[in-house]
Amino acid sequence: MRAYDVVVVGGGAIGMASAREMARAGLSVAVIDRGRLGGEASSAAAGMLGAQLEAHAPDAFYALCRESRAMYPSFADALFEETGIDVEWVENGILQLARSEGAALALRERMRWQRAAGDEAVWLEPEEVRELERGVVGDVLGALYLPRDGNVHAPRLSAALRACVASACDVYEGEEVVAVEPVGAGWRVRGAREVYAAERVVVAAGAWASPLLRALGIPLEVRPVKGQMLAVRPPRGAGLCRTVYDAGTYLVPKRDGTVVIGATEEPDAGYDKRNTVDGLAALLAKALDAVPGLRGGEWLRAWSGLRPRLTGDSSNPVIGPWPGAEGLILAVGHFRNGVLLAPITGRIVASAALGRAPEDLWLPFWPQTRFAARGGDVRADTLER
Ligand SMILES: Cc1cc2nc3c(=O)[nH]c(=O)nc-3n(C[C@H](O)[C@H](O)[C@H](O)COP(=O)(O)OP(=O)(O)OC[C@H]3O[C@@H](n4cnc5c(N)ncnc54)[C@H](O)[C@@H]3O)c2cc1C
Repeated sequence: MRAYDVVVVGGGAIGMASAREMARAGLSVAVIDRGRLGGEASSAAAGMLGAQLEAHAPDAFYALCRESRAMYPSFADALFEETGIDVEWVENGILQLARSEGAALALRERMRWQRAAGDEAVWLEPEEVRELERGVVGDVLGALYLPRDGNVHAPRLSAALRACVASACDVYEGEEVVAVEPVGAGWRVRGAREVYAAERVVVAAGAWASPLLRALGIPLEVRPVKGQMLAVRPPRGAGLCRTVYDAGTYLVPKRDGTVVIGATEEPDAGYDKRNTVDGLAALLAKALDAVPGLRGGEWLRAWSGLRPRLTGDSSNPVIGPWPGAEGLILAVGHFRNGVLLAPITGRIVASAALGRAPEDLWLPFWPQTRFAARGGDVRADTLER
């Protein structure tokens, strides 16, 4: 049986960023994926680093997102140095359009609390919106401009992380983990092909985490939320300089001039990743409404992915050691923000694997404090050793 300090179950951005950090800390690490590393949600993502876009209140989630966004320049540099792959990190801002008085009010309120928290957020009048991004036309009442939010090229991020992990860890692709079991002072990870021994196990199985969690007696459920995406090449002179976000639909310009448009949010589609005519038609219609200059552009491709969303009161991710099950670490439920949160998640997981105390910022996501604060009994009673 192969033995490691840590086995990571799931090689998406979350599992790979975690594995990379743990290997850098000197631990022997294996990453096991039932498909190809980075082959699921992490490569399907639009790659937005929307710390301000995605935050709905000045809360712990906002703080975690900001911290991870701040890590990105050095994270991207380090990945480039380690692998030669440029993840195309860019801080080009996000423009959030307001098309009704209600939306404008809500965005101005967001501007207020984000500024109070020390972030940059600027209200733009309609003519200023068009000065900044010529392609935006129509009945826009203004926009909130978030200059510090940016994006990366998600497939390149996955490729870079995969290259890091392949050089620093043992990688098992095409190997489905069917069980994670406590054995003595450690863990046994049963794959469909082989069995692995580990002192610690990280569950980072994205939208597929539920069966593993259930078998471990952990009362958390992760459900897939399908998102469809498409990419176009704008006609000459009609490209975008920054991300345009219009009532749930976003247009994200990439370095090669292409624009990634997303995304549907389909919580009832289960694990069906097929693109649908209705889904893509709705996305395109909304995108053309916001930026009509894309008409006449070139259709490139469409794809979809499954966001891992935790059910329950909060869809925030759970990151850290599971209480009562020594050596078991969770990194699940990153939902809409796993690309943004990959660097900080890697740091938290590595810290947990090294037995270090959590930083204050992480406590709301750290199982012990998060569930104790809710008054729930989350001791993994089923994991008697
Ligand atoms: C359309 C779309 C757009 C998005 N846009 C953004 C964005 O702009 N910005 C952002 O920050 N986030 C975005 N996200 C969210 C982001 O992609 C996810 O939060 C993130 O990828 C989750 O990473 P993960 O590693 O947890 O999951 P995944 O990338 O899905 O990886 C999980 C891995 O676990 C493996 N696995 C599962 N079960 C097993 C098992 N039993 N044994 C072995 N391996 C297993 C899978 O094969 C998979 O490779 C988007 C997501 C989608 C779908």
